[in-house]
Amino acid sequence: MTMEETKVYLNGEFMPLSQAKIPVMDRGFLFGDSVYEVVPAYGGRLFRLSQHLQRLSNSLHAIRIQNPLTTEQWTQVLETLVKQLPGVDQSIYLQVTRGSTPLRDHAMPTGAIEPTVFAMSNPIPTPDPKVLEQGISAITLEDIRWHRCDIKATTLLANVLVRQQAKDHGAMEAILIRDGYATEGAASNLFIVDDDQLITPPKSEHLLPGITRDLVLELAAEAELSYAEANISHEQLETADEIWLTSSTKEIMPVTHVNDMPVNDGKPGPVWQKMQKLFLAYKEELSSNP
Ligand code: PMP
Repeated sequence: MTMEETKVYLNGEFMPLSQAKIPVMDRGFLFGDSVYEVVPAYGGRLFRLSQHLQRLSNSLHAIRIQNPLTTEQWTQVLETLVKQLPGVDQSIYLQVTRGSTPLRDHAMPTGAIEPTVFAMSNPIPTPDPKVLEQGISAITLEDIRWHRCDIKATTLLANVLVRQQAKDHGAMEAILIRDGYATEGAASNLFIVDDDQLITPPKSEHLLPGITRDLVLELAAEAELSYAEANISHEQLETADEIWLTSSTKEIMPVTHVNDMPVNDGKPGPVWQKMQKLFLAYKEELSSNP
């Protein structure tokens, strides 16, 4: 579909992307005063929608914006977008900003203002089987972000900088280290396998509570795999048997090289193979059942 034909949602209306405009005084534009979500849709069905809407609600609450839509309204908007591309797996991006005021002031406006609500859908590119066969490479970098990484804020400059540093190095993702412990990727959550145990850092203000992360833990529990939510030291990362990064768009990505060194034998490991099967079966079941 061309940009002209694709409809996006902006403040109560569906319109071609090229016609969707926001005022320059929008606080999302001026301050990054806004939050977002990315929801995948497989087989026309929104994946883990209630968990995404709950996290959106938590992010809005944390920055003191009242949720502008009800769950039913959100569902209707997102489903309308998904229906535009029948039979295509998609990721839906949605964003809520605090809205605009006549004067630029860091402090939040005292009177009520209308939040800006935007949503669009894009096809998810077909995963390259080679990438899953070989895994990806990552580099470790200092976590230069703020102390509220649990809020899914659009204020992502630090994430942009570290991701670019990874790209400049020829790596796909940056694994971030704060005070000697690995927190997460620039746009993904982190898992390692150490001595047959799956480990991911516990939820805190230093990482995003990923929807895919929670699903992986759920699947691990169901399959009776040994797992723990525990801090991962930089040294543990370096000696891990397996490393994975998870996100709604990357799903469960095996990391086979870190800082140009192979992880174990440099191939996706057996625990990843097992989890990947469980994940694909879950996805299949969800997209074929209402
Ligand atoms: N951490 C960060 C910093 C992210 O940007 C993302 C993806 N948006 C994730 C983790 C993964 O979250 P999810 O599984 O909900 O996509």
